[in-house]
Amino acid sequence: MGAVFKSNRNVKIVAVIVAALVIAGGVIVFAQHRNEAAAVAFVPPETVPATAIESEYTYDIGEETDSVLNSEEFGDEDYHYAYEYYKDFDCDCDECFNAAGFAAIRIPTGEPGVYRAPMIALTFDDGPVLLTHYLLDILDEYGGRVTFCVIGDMVENGADIVLRAFEAGHEIVGHSWDHQDLARLSVEEIKQQIWDTGAIIEYVTGHAPPPIFRPPFGHFNRRIQHAAYQTGYSVLNWSIDPRDWRDRDEDIIHDHIIYHARDGAIVLLHDIHPTTIYAMRRTIPKLIKMGFELVTATEVIYYVYGELTPGYEFTGTRR
Ligand SMILES: [Zn+2]
Repeated sequence: MGAVFKSNRNVKIVAVIVAALVIAGGVIVFAQHRNEAAAVAFVPPETVPATAIESEYTYDIGEETDSVLNSEEFGDEDYHYAYEYYKDFDCDCDECFNAAGFAAIRIPTGEPGVYRAPMIALTFDDGPVLLTHYLLDILDEYGGRVTFCVIGDMVENGADIVLRAFEAGHEIVGHSWDHQDLARLSVEEIKQQIWDTGAIIEYVTGHAPPPIFRPPFGHFNRRIQHAAYQTGYSVLNWSIDPRDWRDRDEDIIHDHIIYHARDGAIVLLHDIHPTTIYAMRRTIPKLIKMGFELVTATEVIYYVYGELTPGYEFTGTRR
């Protein structure tokens, strides 16, 4: 009886030791994984390419037009922006499009005769999901780069989607590990969310993501700011929100973006809604027609603000 009891106890001790070793091994593997993520430096995008453009869509600001001219200064003359738009744009055909003067005004770079295309960043939250493939197909067709703000615990299951997006030149950044409201978490918990999501993105793509993340619901408070600062990350929010998650209406999404589009803007979208993807079939080619270059959020931030500053919230330019 005593021997049986003793052997049971030994079995328990051995089990406890084995469990402890397994946990320790997991922690070491994860720590190494995270160190690797920190070791691979993020390379900022190259200087914005200045392109000599003479497009058929460029439109003179004529007196007979019913246009609204907006300009804003961002501390540098080159950031002057002028853009005219119309409220009525019922028809999508090229003829009506051109007749309406639906074009972004290109900005001189300072060098005579050299113009830079206005740029805009489309960002897609809450993926990856299978629907993301349709969006990637549209982007393959029309060109342009976008930013995917992915949820950490969905990345492994959607690894092929994330990898396809990354290899097509799109940007992959974190949108928390499990879409918790970071505003309710401690600084340490927020840092864990940032690190874990960055680590899984690097695990799948083989490259450290740029040090920016989109907090769920765009929430930004002092603790999120501290966690971002301490991890060397910046917060990526937006300047244009078509509320695609609320209305689920492709016309509203398309019209809102086209109406508010401006140089240096960051647009909030969700690639988990079919209506958003349908809207992109029209919105993406139209933005390109208007003269916008579709770039990543990081490119817009470097263009508008000059650098990524840890702990800062970036939104892009607002009208
Ligand atoms: Zn979200």
